[in-house]
Amino acid sequence: MSARILDGNRIRDEIRLELRREVEKMAAGGIRPGLAAVLVGENPASQIYVRSKVKMCESLGLYSEKIELPASTPTAELLDLVQRLNQRDAIDGILVQLPLPPQIDTRRVLQAVDPDKDVDGFHPLNAGKLMSGQAALAPCTPAGIMQILDRSRVPIAGARAAVIGRSDIVGKPVALMLLHRHATVTICHSRTVNLAAVAREADILIAAIGRPALVTADFIKPGATVIDVGMNRLTTEEEVRRAFHHPEKALQDLAAKGSVLVGDVQPDDVREVAGAFTPVPGGVGPLTIAMLMANTIQAARTRRGKN
Ligand code: NAD
Repeated sequence: MSARILDGNRIRDEIRLELRREVEKMAAGGIRPGLAAVLVGENPASQIYVRSKVKMCESLGLYSEKIELPASTPTAELLDLVQRLNQRDAIDGILVQLPLPPQIDTRRVLQAVDPDKDVDGFHPLNAGKLMSGQAALAPCTPAGIMQILDRSRVPIAGARAAVIGRSDIVGKPVALMLLHRHATVTICHSRTVNLAAVAREADILIAAIGRPALVTADFIKPGATVIDVGMNRLTTEEEVRRAFHHPEKALQDLAAKGSVLVGDVQPDDVREVAGAFTPVPGGVGPLTIAMLMANTIQAARTRRGKN
């Protein structure tokens, strides 16, 4: 039996329609939410992400600004920029694209963002609010995962969930969100003993590892819902052969485009064993951007309502 595909592009389009209606309502009240996207250096993946974020702002009628700084920018200069954006009324959301170049103190920069404009949900104040279950600006990828589960009617309360990965950006916050929704959650990581056996207990398996196709058939409980957060770019034939059981199509793509994207989950295995799964690309990625838009709109509503 072949598993159900949880189509992230379709869910993103559904959310986009809802957001557009909200933006129109706000426009009638004289408010146009605004996002500032800050890009430091020339990381090609970051350039693509920022471009698609700005594009989605435009398609929704949000105001957006892309600010590009050279890779050599010192921390102090970036902190100055963040302060200026904090003070501007037209800017509701500030996004500092990660990773930042090595000389920059990332933690200091993220803490400098006004928590009310922290649309990535990375400020410790918002992380703390998430921890205690208070409404706040929540990190976009975990929030997007919850949208996929809810809109695909995957039962969460009472389910066994396993999250592989414990990053502050994905693993930890999505584990908290599942916990708040009454799942029984296990957080796994690089030191977990017997990882496959622990993962195989899960009705909902979230892979946020950054290791190509690490999650194989023996990790997946038959019928489980598998959410693949991983975005791993493969650039050699050897990598492609290791990640795909049937590499023919991927090898053609490699030859044509120079790289192939694969998730943290083995794509053939998940299709055979899972009940439902998110593909890579076209699963979690589109939702991350949609939730950034939702956060910008929410930030505008809360902050401008306050003033
Ligand atoms: P990270 O590197 O910060 O964290 C990876 C986690 O995986 C760590 O907690 C580590 O303990 C765990 N891990 C590493 N090797 C492991 C192993 N062999 N077994 C078990 N656990 C292991 O990464 P992150 O920022 O959480 O991102 C994870 C992946 O998700 C990456 O591929 C990233 O590109 C992708 N990502 C995608 C989106 C999206 O929108 N689709 C957003 C964010 C991140």
